[in-house]
Order: sequence, then C-alpha cells, then structure tokens
Amino acid sequence: MSLQGKTALVTGGSRGIGAAIAKRLAADGAAVAITYSGNKAAADATVSAIKSAGGTAFAFQADAADPASQRAGVEQAAAALGAIDILVHNAGVAEFSAVADDTDETFDRQFGVNVKGLHVGTRAALPHLSDGGRIILIGSVSGELAFPATAVYSATKAAVAALARGWAKDLASRNILVNTVQPGPINTDMNPADGEFAQQMIGFIPLGRYGKVEEIAGAVSFLAGPDASYITGTTLNVDGGAAA
Ligand code: NDP
Repeated sequence: MSLQGKTALVTGGSRGIGAAIAKRLAADGAAVAITYSGNKAAADATVSAIKSAGGTAFAFQADAADPASQRAGVEQAAAALGAIDILVHNAGVAEFSAVADDTDETFDRQFGVNVKGLHVGTRAALPHLSDGGRIILIGSVSGELAFPATAVYSATKAAVAALARGWAKDLASRNILVNTVQPGPINTDMNPADGEFAQQMIGFIPLGRYGKVEEIAGAVSFLAGPDASYITGTTLNVDGGAAA
C-alpha cells in the first residue's frame, strides 16, 4: 500500500469524484478526512464504505465558499488526522449559462467554491501540511477548452491550474508538490452520462465515452504517491483525449 501511514484531506468527498478519491487513497493505506457542504448522508456513506474496507475515515461539514467554515473544516480534519500529508481540493460547483444570462450571483458562487475555497483551504492547511506533502487540485479540461455557456466555470478552472503552478513554486522549498488533475466529462451527479448534453460532449471525446470516477481517483493516487516525487506545477488531463 503506497500511502501506508499517510493522511489525506479530500474536500467534497461525499459524492462523485471526491468520494472515489477518498476511497482510493484509503485503499492505498492513507487515513482520510472528507468535507461536504450539505449531504451528510452521502458523507456518512463514504466514511462507512472506507471503514468497512478496514480503513480510517472522518467527515466534517464545511462550506468551501464560506471562509470561516472552510477554515474550521480544515482545522477539524487536521485535529482528527494529526497532520495532513495529502490535500485534495475537489469540492466544486458548475452553473452553466451563456454570458447574456450570467448573474453576479452565479459568478460569485462558482468563484467562491472553485477558487476562493481552495485559496482559503490551502492557507488554513499549510501549518498542518507535512514537508514533502502533496496538494492536488481538481481542475477541468474546461479550463483549457471553450464550450458554449461555460465561460465562468471554465475561468474558475483556468484559475485553479494557475494557482497550482504558483503554489508549486511557493512551496518547493518545503518539497510540497502541487499539481492539477483536469478531468474531462465524468459520470457524476454534476454531469450524468445520460444527461441533456451528454451525447454532444461525447462527440468531443476521442475515446468516445464518459470517464469513470475511479479513473480520476487513479490519477490522484499516482500524484499522491512515491512515483510522482519529481512532478510539481503541472496539469494532468484525464479526459479521454478531449484536449488533445
Ligand atoms: P458532484 O456535484 O457530483 O459532487 C460535488 C461534491 O462537492 C460533493 O461532495 C459536494 O458535497 C461537494 N461540494 C459542493 N459544493 C461544496 C461546498 N460549497 N463546500 C464543500 N463541498 C462542496 O461533482 P463531481 O464529483 O462531478 O465534481 C468534483 C470536482 O470535479 C469538481 O471540482 C468539478 O468541477 C470537477 N470536474 C467534474 C467533471 C465532471 O464531468 N463530473 C469534469 C471536470 C471537473 P455535498 O454532497 O454535501 O453536496
């Protein structure tokens, strides 16, 4: 188990990609804490699944868009885990509209969760982050590709990759490695493979299918593990070739 003895905090670990990441890091041997915004039942289910498989897991409610709540969630996770070796910023929201229909509220909500939440969370985690630790941000290929009615979401994800590049340089002296995983369309509540725009999206994917949450979790596991010791400040697209 490549992460035996390590600890990990995964934001938005109650459902979808975050739940798969939490389960994978636990299966790799890490003790895991997750945060969630409102879905306690889903968070409890993720924790139960990890514990049933013999792992260690904790869940804390923390709204990534609310700095005080986000800081409190990080502090609770650090107290439960003792220290944080791996920080995965996965929590995110998407609200799609064309520019004429965008509002101040949809702009602020997406930047609040997807960008500010990461900034607040990383600053809160830094005193607890082990030297030699990892920070992995979940961006999106949308940060590189333009689709209709996704400009604000795409802008948040471009910002995510930019934060990772900057933090990689800021934290290199502590050997903390910072990278972004950029998923393509992945079958979750946010983007169901049988949803309204699914067939249109599949048209952009050379592999001709949606990805599975486990395929993102596998990339995060690699970046969190010993084989990624010389990788920092980069983006890894896990997108079926969509951005190729
Ligand atoms: P889901 O909507 O399926 O799950 C979102 C998760 O984030 C839930 O655990 C949710 O908690 C949590 N969350 C949402 N808002 C907040 C908040 N304010 N504070 C804390 N936690 C929050 O999304 P996905 O699993 O699909 O997406 C995960 C990440 O992957 C996001 O960053 C997304 O942008 C990115 N991504 C997804 C793609 C896809 O096709 N699915 C493609 C590219 C990137 P709760 O259960 O409590 O609501």
